Amino acid sequence: MMRWSGSWTGTIAGSRCKNVRPEYSPSVKRFRTKKIEVNRLNQTLLGLLFLLHGTPGTPATTVRVNCPTEDCNRDVPVPAAGVECDACGLPLFPTDVLRIHEEVGDETRNESALGRLMSVVELLVLVGLATLLWEQSRKELLPTTLFIVDGPLAMYGPPAKLRGRALEYFQAMGASTPGDGPYLCGIEKTGTMVDFARQLARHEVLIPGDLLVCDADVIARVTNAGNALAYGKETYWGRKFIYRSRDGRVIVPTVMPPAGAPYDSQGGQPDPDDYPTLRAILDVIDRTGSSMYVDGIIPGQPRTERPRSPSASARTSYGSWPRGGLALTPSGRPPGR
Ligand SMILES: [Zn+2]
Repeated sequence: MMRWSGSWTGTIAGSRCKNVRPEYSPSVKRFRTKKIEVNRLNQTLLGLLFLLHGTPGTPATTVRVNCPTEDCNRDVPVPAAGVECDACGLPLFPTDVLRIHEEVGDETRNESALGRLMSVVELLVLVGLATLLWEQSRKELLPTTLFIVDGPLAMYGPPAKLRGRALEYFQAMGASTPGDGPYLCGIEKTGTMVDFARQLARHEVLIPGDLLVCDADVIARVTNAGNALAYGKETYWGRKFIYRSRDGRVIVPTVMPPAGAPYDSQGGQPDPDDYPTLRAILDVIDRTGSSMYVDGIIPGQPRTERPRSPSASARTSYGSWPRGGLALTPSGRPPGR
């Protein structure tokens, strides 16, 4: 299990950083040089950005940047060193693909843009660490490791297109990994889905061991969205489920399907059987918890025993979906009845 919680100071690379406050300015361009150094991972954030735009083991040589000049609208392949737009001459940087500069403005706080950047960095670190295991221990460490992202598997705001890249990248990794790996999930700790999940648990609608399939009916109920079928398609690269662990904790994991999109305009893939890593992920959730935090997952603090390897537990746990007494299938009755 791996969780990245280091602090990182940086700013939005490139000339489109206007109005960055002085306290952030010393770290301009650190994106290019800042290295993530964990064990043998020794890559710059920029290197990881190109890796994410390529395939595992083969970084892309360019990223496609939509030129930010008004009315230019040119899609330009930009190498690591940057390039001038061939239509308008504006210097383009590979980090422009993140479009974080769009969040920097006279009236907005820099924290908003830096928050986006932080979520990009977290994704890049995940890409780097998972790829490290994929390259160096594809048959041993990778299938016995669960990567837990703090928050859902999602990318919000201007960099949201990375959602599609992340999905393609990790699906390509899955296709070249023995078994069901890589095992990765996001854990959502706040938000409407978490509130809804806690409500279900409070009223014992969701009992320990239950997995709630969040299909369009559930999504419509939780979000009050007019078009629940299209929920999440621009944002998430994993599908949300609601799980009540065997010790009663309420967890909202997002899990990636090995093929296809978790959400699309037709409701996506709500069926847990389309997520072969899900059983093992829930098994790890059941085995790791903390009395210190409500609904917590504490890496390295297993509840009872050391987590079994995801691949082993996938075979031994959870006979069938759904478990518990509630109809929790995509076509089943909505919860609360
Ligand atoms: Zn241009």
